[in-house]
Amino acid sequence: MIRGTLLTLSLLLVATGCDRSNSAKPPRIETDPATSPAADKPPLALVDTAPKHADKPLLLKPARVFDGINTAPHEGWVVLVRGEKIEAAGPADQIKTPDDAQVINLPGMTLLPGLIEAHSHLFLHPYNETPWDDQVLRESPALRVARATNHARDSLLAGFTTLRDLGTEGAGDADVGMKQAIDQGIIIGPRLIVVTRAIVATGSYGPKGFAPHVRVPQGADEASGAEALRRVVREQIARGADWIKVYADYYWGPEREARPTFSLEELQVIVATARDAGRPVSAHATSHEGAKRATLAGVETVEHGDGGDAALFKLMAEKGVALCPTLAATEAIQQYRGWKKGADPEPPAVKSKRAAFKAALDSGVTIAAGSDVGVFSHGDEARELELMVDYGMKPADALRSATSVNAKVLHLNAKIGAVKPGLLADLIAVEGDPTREIAAVRRVKMVMKGGVVHRAPRP
Ligand SMILES: [Zn+2]
Repeated sequence: MIRGTLLTLSLLLVATGCDRSNSAKPPRIETDPATSPAADKPPLALVDTAPKHADKPLLLKPARVFDGINTAPHEGWVVLVRGEKIEAAGPADQIKTPDDAQVINLPGMTLLPGLIEAHSHLFLHPYNETPWDDQVLRESPALRVARATNHARDSLLAGFTTLRDLGTEGAGDADVGMKQAIDQGIIIGPRLIVVTRAIVATGSYGPKGFAPHVRVPQGADEASGAEALRRVVREQIARGADWIKVYADYYWGPEREARPTFSLEELQVIVATARDAGRPVSAHATSHEGAKRATLAGVETVEHGDGGDAALFKLMAEKGVALCPTLAATEAIQQYRGWKKGADPEPPAVKSKRAAFKAALDSGVTIAAGSDVGVFSHGDEARELELMVDYGMKPADALRSATSVNAKVLHLNAKIGAVKPGLLADLIAVEGDPTREIAAVRRVKMVMKGGVVHRAPRP
């Protein structure tokens, strides 16, 4: 039922709220056929004053503000939004409210920067619904785009206003079009950073296990050797990649354990080619050696890091490489394999993930909140923040990771990631105080992206 209401609001905002044209006056709700008759619907106070973003300034009055940087929330702060940006933030008695400001009361709620997910796959859905191989080989591009459209909406309405999507896994370059559709207001979704296809070493990836003479399309872009890698990186950039994603290792050892795929020299070629074009590189690495090579080659983030120890994380910290732990994906996969969380003892993969995360925390390496969502349901990204706290991080630090830290890791800190004048108004309000109880991030009551309200509290 709530979903129905939200969907209606979302559609309204697409129809009337995200128009990129500079029409002087926005259409009123009543004139939109999608909303007539509107009499039996809950009041949508924000919508008819919100074209691309509200004409009038918006004054947000929560119980407190978590600014994304300081660990302690500011009680009694208000935030003034004008157009797509934050104009002012501070104690209520120090912020001058413009006469024409529209007030949004957020009683009992914490206002915080829109959450940033550093590792998602919009084109995947949970593996217990459809195994990864079947998603890559049996689902049409149109089916995958249709699902991804819903995934983008679900992530945004769950408070995640930015996603770095780390590979379409068989869906080609569809992430570039998805990003354009969101930016043009055709569909709703988070700001996207896209990589097109991940780059994998020839023969290392999947789907695999077929007869040697059968050539099976791969879930990523295969290449080997300096020249081929330069070409693949350049082609991806030409198609719209914001970052380059590479698999520094994969499960292709004799016992299907993770072994390095690319040589250090090959990884260096990838990083140098991407860097020339101003693109950072992210590396999948679950083995110690894979993560070490990626770090030495100059990637900016290591994904998963399961095989990491104190020495590796210290090296990463020294080189300014961030770790994206994807705790939620590890747990989800173990659960798909039969682990009953809470009832059964923790499987070795979860135990070692806990140990690696503790070593990472102790080492001082930058931890970028990223869940690998797609392995589990979109809209459930908060799972990673809960696990980061369960595995030993303070709630406020998990929130900083998903806001100001991720903004910096993704080179977006001049635009998003904090409640600060001049930044884009990517803001969410949640019931309760997530710095005390991290699960409060699931109780999202308001979502604003670039000053446009996509989810509003009931008046
Ligand atoms: Zn992933």
